This record gives sequence, C-alpha cells and structure tokens, in this order.
Amino acid sequence: ATSLVWFREDLRLADNPALTAAIERGGRLALVYILDEESEGTRPLGGASRWWLHHSLAALSNDLAAHGYRLILRRGRAGDILPALIQEIGANAVDWNRRYGAAERAVDATLKTTLRGQGIAVESHQAGLLFEPWTVTTGAGQPYRVFTPFWRACLARGEPRPPLPAPHDWPPPADGAASDDLADWALLPTKPDWAAGLRESWQPGERGAQARLAQFQDEGLPHYAGQRDRPDIDATSRLSPHLRFGEVSPFQLWHAAGVAGRQETMGRRNIDKFLSELGWREFSWHLLFHFPDLPDRNFQPRFDAFPWREPDAADLAAWQQGRTGIPIVDAGMRQLWHTGWMHNRVRMIVASFLIKNLLIDWRIGEAWFWDTLVDADAASNAASWQWVAGSGADAAPYFRVFNPVLQAEKFDPRADYIRAHVPELAALPASEIARLTAGGHARGYPAPIVDLQESRRRALDAFASLKADE
Ligand code: FAD
Repeated sequence: ATSLVWFREDLRLADNPALTAAIERGGRLALVYILDEESEGTRPLGGASRWWLHHSLAALSNDLAAHGYRLILRRGRAGDILPALIQEIGANAVDWNRRYGAAERAVDATLKTTLRGQGIAVESHQAGLLFEPWTVTTGAGQPYRVFTPFWRACLARGEPRPPLPAPHDWPPPADGAASDDLADWALLPTKPDWAAGLRESWQPGERGAQARLAQFQDEGLPHYAGQRDRPDIDATSRLSPHLRFGEVSPFQLWHAAGVAGRQETMGRRNIDKFLSELGWREFSWHLLFHFPDLPDRNFQPRFDAFPWREPDAADLAAWQQGRTGIPIVDAGMRQLWHTGWMHNRVRMIVASFLIKNLLIDWRIGEAWFWDTLVDADAASNAASWQWVAGSGADAAPYFRVFNPVLQAEKFDPRADYIRAHVPELAALPASEIARLTAGGHARGYPAPIVDLQESRRRALDAFASLKADE
C-alpha cells in the first residue's frame, strides 16, 4: 500500500495530522506540493508570498531529504495533477489538512468525490484552525459577527488538542516520481531584486518558526499585554508568516504559550492577550468561511454606496512608497516594503490614512498588502481592512478616524520606530518630527500630501452621506 500526503498550507513535519495519519497507516509514503494558480477562483500569490513560498518549500525539501524523501513538486490544476500522480505512483490513500477558502474548498470537495469514486481512501484533517468554522455558532445556529462572544464560545469548548510530535519512524519512500525543479517556478524576484530586506529579516521554514517561537517565549510573551502596541519595541512574535504557510500550527502556539505561562515570571494576562490574538485569526477565518466574498465586498452592504475618490495616482504612489509626509505612515509603508511585514498598530494607522484621509477604497489597500506582506492571508487581511474601513464585522466605527500624529506620540513616544525606517528623519528629535505635519520641514522629506484636519472632515462628510442599514 502507498499513501500520498498533499502538503498545502502546512509546510511542517511536527503537528501535521495528515502526515502522521499517512505514516500510521503503514506501507510506502509519497509527498507532494502542487503550485495551483489555475483552479477557478484561486487568487494568485503576491510577490512577497512567492518569495516566502520558495524558501519554505526549499526548507521542507531539505528536512524531508534528511529522512530519505524527495518532496514531489508539481504545478497546475490540482484537480488534474493529483489524480494523475496517484495513478503514477499507485497510491491507494491520500491525506491532506483542511483549507477554508471557498475556491480551495471547492477543489478539495471535488477531488474527494472523484478519488473516492475510484476507490482511493481520502482523509482530511484539522490542522490550521483551533476550532472548525462549522462548529462555532450562536444559539440560533448562525455564525458569530462579534468577536467577544465568538471567542468566549471558542474558549468554552475547552483546551485545543495537544500538538503531535514530528514523526520518527518513517516508512520507506514510494518509488520516485518526477518532480519539477523549484527554481523553474521562478518564485523569486530577479531584476530588480527587491528581496534583500526580506532575506535579512526572515528564516522561512519550520526551523525558523521554532527559533522565532522560542525567542518570543523568552523575550516577548512576558511583556506582551503591555508592549504589543509599541512598534518601537520588538514585543510581538512575528510568527504571522510562519503561521500563514503552516510552518508552525496554532495548536503548537496555544500550548507553547500555556507552558511558558507555568513559569513564575509570566502573568496570565500576557498569555490571555496572546491567545486572543490567535482568536482574531480564528475569527477572520471563520468569517471568510461563512462569507467568502469578504476580500471583495463590503460586509455591511450600506458601504456599497460609499463615495470613494477615484484613486489619485500620485497619492496612491506616495502611500505605497512611504512618501506621504506623515512620518508614522511613511515608516510603516517603508517597513512593509523593506521587510514584508508591518507592526499591527502601524497597519491600522496606514490603513486608516489611506481609507479616510485619502478617501481611497479599502480594496486598493488590501491588494497592496496582499502583494507586499509575507504574511498576506486571505482572511486576516480582508477582515482587518474591513475592520479599519468600518464596513466589516465588529468593525471600528467609521467616524473614529486615527490621528496619525497622536498615534505616533502615544505608541512611538521617542520616534525610534520612525527614525529606524525613515532615514531622512534619523537625526531629528521626536519633538521636531511631530511638528512636520504642522508646518515644520526636514531636508529631503516631503511635505504632507493632505491636510489631516481637512481630510478628516471630508471623510466624515462622506460617511454621513450613507444611509443606515435596515
Ligand atoms: P502577534 O501579536 O505576535 O500575534 C500572534 C498571531 O496572532 C499573529 O501571528 C497572527 O496570526 C494573529 N493575529 C494577531 N493580530 C491579529 C489580527 N488583528 N487579526 C488576525 N490575526 C491576528 N495578519 C495576517 O496574518 N495576515 C494579513 O494579511 C494581515 N493583514 C492585516 C491588514 C491590516 C490593515 C491590519 C490592521 C492587520 C492585518 N493583520 C494581518 C493582522 C495583524 O496585523 C498581524 O497578524 C500581526 O501584526 C502579525 O504580527 P505578529 O505575528 O508579531 O503578531
């Protein structure tokens, strides 16, 4: 007997239920990853995600080679590739871990039916979410639209299962099937090579994820609740891209936080806060599961009438390139471009600036993040953009317009974060940086592209033109 494990958004060996199940079944084992950009409704990966995927697959291939396996790489429609490969290697069972996007679920459901019709055993497993979306509903059987009761309902279900160890008794590999060469997929940028900052910032792969987690347990988690909003302090886990590609699982994080919590130094408050951030990830995925249009359509339909400005090309480019003249916004956008990641507090500030001060449709910002974030995630990205826009589930009210200057004073009090990312301002004291939006100027640094007070008023007027939902 031969089992095939289909890797997707679970590029790890530990706590991989599909892999564990295939090994426990006995017989020979084959492992495949399919780059599928062709199945209907599949959203092509952004540039930063492609970079990450390349290195994550290289790391997984290496880890598997150490056990005598070659990861088979194939490209094309999974609905065609997988059945053909199963025939080629004579597999009689397939395992995969579940995905939750609409297009991906459609592919998986069709495959399950087709393959089972051919007598192939197909097993899907829970690995990427702590709670399956169809199991967490209100008393009336509806999906939750508000985070706090959602998370309370999740927690009431009890502790998530403990993570599975990495396999140690590996069965013999199935006879070799041909594999694409990863380099031929051309996932890395060539000219220009914009990935230098990504290479400096990250170690994609399971090993990199574990190293990041260990460091966070020691240094970040003990101060997490108090410092997670400070972009000038390295206080959050930066595990998001590792989670996105499944190099670490939420089950591993849940239990790692709990174990750390048994150490005397760790307050329960820090752990609960961290777990509730994992809860926001769950909430976003549950929303996407129930409302597959989330990346494309306003969750609250009254926003369909919102009078967005035609995006002004110069304004949009200034935002994308971090040249708006608003220091905290520019620092965030440059951190994003340079490292593929941005601190959560600053994501909220730059999104608010685009949506409210520039009056540009949130979908345009969502698309830029999709292309440039290494953690670009269909659910969290869409849910968060809609949260800032006010159009989402449990969203910030639209009229709450972030003042980027006050935000910077509060969360980056010495302007260390701004100075780290905006070299033109590196020599200025915080007080002078704060004055840049009120008539001050710095050499080589642009004047603000909008007046913050006037654009705030314009946003509130635009919002006032919407009718309340029934
Ligand atoms: P930590 O503070 O260490 O949190 C641990 C984990 O919890 C994160 O890795 C992440 O998986 C999850 N998490 C934390 N905050 C949130 C949140 N608000 N929503 C959902 N999950 C959360 N996150 C993404 O993973 N992908 C995205 O594409 C994405 N786009 C965003 C767009 C906007 C406009 C905003 C405001 C937020 C977005 N976020 C996104 C959420 C959040 O900013 C990141 O998850 C977080 O900054 C990742 O850093 P970290 O791993 O250090 O987080």
